[in-house]
Amino acid sequence: MLKVIKFGGTSLASAEQFRKVAAIVREDKSRRYVVASAPGKRFSSDTKVTDLLLSCYRLHRVRENFDEPFSCIRSRFEEICAELEIPFAFGEDFDRFYQEIKNGATEEYIASRGEHFNAKILAEFLQFPFLDTAEGIVFDENGVLMEEKTNENLALLLKNHTRAVLPGFYGATEKGEVRTFSRGGSDITGSLVARAAKADLYENWTDVSGLLMADPRIVSSPKAIECVTYRELRELSYMGANVLHEDAIFPVRREGIPINIRNTNDTAATGTMIVENAEKSAGIVTGIAGKKGFGAIYIEKGMMNRELGFGRRVLEVLENRKISFEHLPSGIDTMTVVLNRGDLVGHENELIRELQMAVQPDRIHLVENLCLIAVVGRGMINSPGTAARLFGALAKEKINIRMIDQGSSEMNIIVALEEQDYEKALKAIYAEFVPEEEN
Ligand code: ASP
Repeated sequence: MLKVIKFGGTSLASAEQFRKVAAIVREDKSRRYVVASAPGKRFSSDTKVTDLLLSCYRLHRVRENFDEPFSCIRSRFEEICAELEIPFAFGEDFDRFYQEIKNGATEEYIASRGEHFNAKILAEFLQFPFLDTAEGIVFDENGVLMEEKTNENLALLLKNHTRAVLPGFYGATEKGEVRTFSRGGSDITGSLVARAAKADLYENWTDVSGLLMADPRIVSSPKAIECVTYRELRELSYMGANVLHEDAIFPVRREGIPINIRNTNDTAATGTMIVENAEKSAGIVTGIAGKKGFGAIYIEKGMMNRELGFGRRVLEVLENRKISFEHLPSGIDTMTVVLNRGDLVGHENELIRELQMAVQPDRIHLVENLCLIAVVGRGMINSPGTAARLFGALAKEKINIRMIDQGSSEMNIIVALEEQDYEKALKAIYAEFVPEEEN
């Protein structure tokens, strides 16, 4: 058994958290490769080290003094080392780093140092070797990950080490320039390392006990999801449920390696397993997620169904404006294009005019302020009546459904509602599908 184990920023934010991490690693011998994030927030008003690093970059870019954020970063690392009673062994590296910023180091290089130094501290504390991901993770000149090359290089890097700590979030180009993933990218590093190590499990340790069935800011104490398939997760994260960086799924999924989301602050909780296939599901619905900020264009034209190329012409107008559509519910004589409202703002009228010219509709109008709610669950395929229950729950609350879209996978039903009904609808759907005693 081989596990790759990644710790997020809050799990490595202080010496106290480092001790929890070390206990987790030591408790299970199969936890062999450890991927570390930069120190995150210790309390809600705290600043992440990555944000402090980015402040240094921005201040220096406008020729302002960056000593304040820089010394905050230094003291955070020094404090962790002092409390863990290990030497702050890279004082000189830190002085050099200060000069590097002064000499115009790139934004990505500067941002990457949070992970770099934190992983060194963790390696020292665990007495594991430190392996630099700049030597394993390869980006092309445009900053795009070269996944196959990365897989080969990482496998080589790991080959001679049974255990190691690796910094998350960054890699380098073949010329050796450090590049980073987008924010939260240490999740991707963990996934790449798991793939290269041919791990049996990728454990992703964070500060929540897994993916929750609904947004806890709206539904009070929602249940954690025990097991979710990659496809369900994709649907839920598209709708805003985020516990993992979206791109972290692909490397492990390809190799059939499951991901286990765990809580560093509650090791007794088994968290959420993310798997390719799961036979049984705990209930009909795995999770409910939603987002505000959508708009829709309703297009109506008699005999639309017989008009060859109608849909293409509509989509071409959007494509020419570089607007992507989110959903396309349609009727015999109607077609609705659901879009992100942000893509519409400022050119609504032009867009309508162009569509009028392209397809001469009988009627066309724009609806703004929509939200979408997705009810996702692999258990839905074999459960007749799910849609009826969903619509019934909304009807009971007198919520008007503006649109319905059921994916062909029969794994999700998406409803579009007025934005003002969002919170009420989410609560009603949750109460309908999650049995009371489990709430
Ligand atoms: N430290 C980086 C961030 O704050 C990457 C990560 O934590 O995954 O986004």
